[in-house]
Amino acid sequence: MSGTMMWQALTTGSLIEHAEKYHAGTEVVSVETDGSTARSSWGEIGANARRIKSALDILGVPANARCATIAWNNRRHLELYFGIGSGGRVTHTINPRLTPEQMVYILNDARDEVLFLDRTFLPVAAKLGPLLKSVKHYVLMGPRDEEAAGMVEGLLFHDDLLQAGDPAAEWPDLDENAPAALCYTSGTTGNPKGVQYSHRSLVLHSIGGNQPDGLNMAARDVVMPVVPMFHVNAWGVPYVAASVGAKLVMPGPKLDGESLARLIDQEQVTLSLGVPTIWMGLLAGLKSTGIKPTSMKRTVVGGSALPPSMIREFRDTYGVELIHAWGMTETSPLGTLNQLLQKHAGLSADAQARLREGQGRPPWGVDLRIVDDAGQELPRDGKTQGALHIRGHWIVDSYFGQDATALTQDGWFDTGDVATLDRDGYMVIRDRSKDIIKSGGEWISTVELENIAIAHPKVANAAAIAARHPKWDERPVVLAVPAEGASPTEAEILEAYDGKVASWQVPDRVIFVGELPLGATGKVLKNKLREAYGDVLIKEA
Ligand code: ADP
Repeated sequence: MSGTMMWQALTTGSLIEHAEKYHAGTEVVSVETDGSTARSSWGEIGANARRIKSALDILGVPANARCATIAWNNRRHLELYFGIGSGGRVTHTINPRLTPEQMVYILNDARDEVLFLDRTFLPVAAKLGPLLKSVKHYVLMGPRDEEAAGMVEGLLFHDDLLQAGDPAAEWPDLDENAPAALCYTSGTTGNPKGVQYSHRSLVLHSIGGNQPDGLNMAARDVVMPVVPMFHVNAWGVPYVAASVGAKLVMPGPKLDGESLARLIDQEQVTLSLGVPTIWMGLLAGLKSTGIKPTSMKRTVVGGSALPPSMIREFRDTYGVELIHAWGMTETSPLGTLNQLLQKHAGLSADAQARLREGQGRPPWGVDLRIVDDAGQELPRDGKTQGALHIRGHWIVDSYFGQDATALTQDGWFDTGDVATLDRDGYMVIRDRSKDIIKSGGEWISTVELENIAIAHPKVANAAAIAARHPKWDERPVVLAVPAEGASPTEAEILEAYDGKVASWQVPDRVIFVGELPLGATGKVLKNKLREAYGDVLIKEA
């Protein structure tokens, strides 16, 4: 027996088709790689995506072939998301901040057949070309450009493909489990691994992640994804925005605080999304330009822990709500988002603010648990910490090209994060399992130590690491970047820990550094810091 309802496959083509048909006139604003601003619309993006699909047909690119992009957040990249993926191929976004060796590894591992590039990345492609085994076509994301044509043999041009393609090409009928997009993890340890999203997982992620307690994006919003389109599909924003027909503002290559502040003001952005380092820059940009982001209501922040001091500054100075979210490449990425429950309405403003500092709770569609070393589930008491496991409609099953499952025997994905969970599902990340500090057998959260240092007015940024110790195995050491014009002393910063953490958790040292090493997704590279500072306590002993 079955129900008697219509059946339609859950495909990304259905998302862009909706946007084209019902939101054709809604704007897509794009800061181009040359710095100019282009104004397009969902109607035009949809027609151009169909042209790209048709042009790839003419080029003879087969079904399910991976087509890579190395590009900023702009309108052509949006056309490719749908033109490639909804057209029956796989949009493979590549992080341009990876090392050339990593890019070569990823392009060969994915066996990409086409490589679309922004002008910025043409020299890299020209250099890597001879090492790429599977790429048959290179496409510059722009109009015909003779100088560029001289750099890469047989170079094609995005705008020529648009001319050649058919704006009325039909989206193919696809199996909803067919692949639509591919992203690689950043591979801070070992080689990067590919996560291949299906049409079904992307659609369910868009709907499940966009509920009112999630991204809560609507047709009346002006949405600016600062999170790059090469970082887990810009957290799904292109797909979600198409599903609701929101106006999009694509910020292009200039992600400094002043450029973003001006763009928010000029386009009256209501919702933006990005990692904490970007918002640190925006706070500085708002100060230096004097711009008040009056249109902006909400900002979703994730990718690494959000310092509570930043939540307060946005809220108290600018009236912007920061929504803390957690996820990873393997989880599409939305795993948790932080919104309060009805029962919290009566709490004091302070208590509400404290609850919102954590990473939040799972939306429908994903499920969480914490377990001990033996895989036994731990209590959901908000205190016990353990390995965070996740399962659901948009969670990885196995990595691209690997037969082995990535899951535990009982079907969960181990995130590599250490967290607490409470009865309502509020999750707090205590650490990444490889970053956590084990002092005399007890765990110390680096996130907590960093937040205290960052809240100090004389500190701009900080990272806590485990340094080897002859007696305790590991002890915390904090690397701190002084705020501009400030010259804090070690004693001053250590004082900030008094009464905030147990005395044995207070760092052994605070060392001032000019900057912290950042990885390809803007996260602090703690392995680099451990290499450089892991022995400071031994040397001193
Ligand atoms: P990578 O950092 O390896 O590129 P992802 O981008 O997939 O991989 O990042 C996933 C990891 O980032 C998570 O496992 C977690 O450790 C960290 N992370 C993401 N969001 C948050 C957050 N809000 N708070 C703390 N850590 C976070």
